[in-house]
This record gives sequence, C-alpha cells and structure tokens, in this order.
Amino acid sequence: MSERFTAWQKEDFSEDEHNALRRLKEQVTPRQEYAEGKLKLNFEYKFSSGEVLKAEEDKEGIAYIKILKDGQPPLDFSDYLPEGFEFATPSYKSTVSNSNKGQWSVDYENKKVSVGDIRGLKEIFSLLHEMGHTEQKGVSQIEMRSKIHDSSVARADKLKLIENISESERDASARAIHIARNIYEKYHIDLLEGFQNLADFQDFVHSALLMHRFSMELLLSITAKQEEGQDAAKEEREFLTKLFDKRKLQRLSKNENKN
Ligand SMILES: [Zn+2]
Repeated sequence: MSERFTAWQKEDFSEDEHNALRRLKEQVTPRQEYAEGKLKLNFEYKFSSGEVLKAEEDKEGIAYIKILKDGQPPLDFSDYLPEGFEFATPSYKSTVSNSNKGQWSVDYENKKVSVGDIRGLKEIFSLLHEMGHTEQKGVSQIEMRSKIHDSSVARADKLKLIENISESERDASARAIHIARNIYEKYHIDLLEGFQNLADFQDFVHSALLMHRFSMELLLSITAKQEEGQDAAKEEREFLTKLFDKRKLQRLSKNENKN
C-alpha cells in the first residue's frame, strides 16, 4: 500500500480524510525489518483486567496469538479461525507476494492469515478484521482487484465488483466486532480497550474504508477518466464515497448492537 500513497491525489479527499489516512498509514505500515522477516513477531500487552495478550512466532513463521490468565487455559485466537487456517508472519515460506509481506491479509489458497507488524493493542482490531475475512465465502479480493484492473472488463462490471469489495470490507469489520463481543461476554476481556472511545474506534475503522476507497480510485484510474469528462469522474467518485463512507459504518455498528 505504501507506494500507492505517493501517487495519492490529496485533492480527492477532505482534510479530515487526509489526516485519518495518514494516521492509519503510520499504524499499519510494517517496519521494514518486520516485513523482511528480520524482526520477529513479539508483542505483549497486559489488559486492565489483568490478562496478558501474547503474539509470537515459531521458527517456521507460524504465529501464535493467545491471551493468558493465571490458572486458566489460554484463549487461543486460532480457535476462532475456520478449519485448517493458521496465522503466519513474513518469515513463513509464503506465497504472498513480496509487496504484501508484513501486511494484514488473507491467503485463502494456503489458508493463512498474514499477520501485520503489531505495535499496539489497536492492531488487534486489524487481526479480528482479517479473521472476519476468513469466514467469507465467494470470490477472493485479489481476483476481484485484478478484474477491476483488467482493461477488457466492462466498466459497469468493475463498479459491481467494487460494490462487492465494499460489502466484504464492512462485513469483515462486523464479524470482527462480533468476535470481540463474544470474547468480552465469555472472558470479560475488552480487546478494544486500546481505543480511547467510540469515536477513536470509528475513526480507525473508517480510515480503513477510506484506504480501500483510495485504492479503488487508483484501480479505476479516475484521474485518467477525468481527462475524458469531469462529470463522469465526479459521478464515480460520489459512488465510491457512498460505498466506503462513515454513515454506512455507523449503520453497521447499530445493526451489530441490535443483534
Ligand atoms: Zn479487509
């Protein structure tokens, strides 16, 4: 994602969105040593309720993320993954392309969740979000993205694919919130205590949606389209804004609260 940011047209986004993206970028861009597998996954956090979260990796680059509590069996995050799935770090003999190493993603073919560079508790939401993606059925985002990039695919079909991606992103976040709530109800551990308040949390999730909108704009090359006609470009930008916007997210968390 990082090189894409350099091509980013600042004027496409409001100042607030610009700042939100910048904060998220700082948070999710892995340290180079981590992405190269030189710096191993080793994160520890003590919850206000006393339990300790540990994220580590073995020699093969398989990651283990657990919450430990004195005298009780550990809570293993892999128990929340579909059958056969594992967490993996950049040290894993991965098929993930080099540019994606150290980034949060799901490799469905090899049943791996690629673990990002966890430096703070907020990143646990990124983990939960990817766990949410593992439960989704259907065409993978990598496939959808390559179709959006393909010049032989009709524009209307591309817009449909973008709608699917937007849907899948919001769905993954809804599933993430669901897992966090289950863990809270079952173990009384607040995985989201790294966020100061609801607004801070929404800002984080919204920034991730913005990042997707940004990458969709690039995939569609709206800038190139702009040369053909301002109106068409404006319409498509409005379409993307609606798909990856904040209000949809608020509706999402409201729905989640109702369930
Ligand atoms: Zn996602």
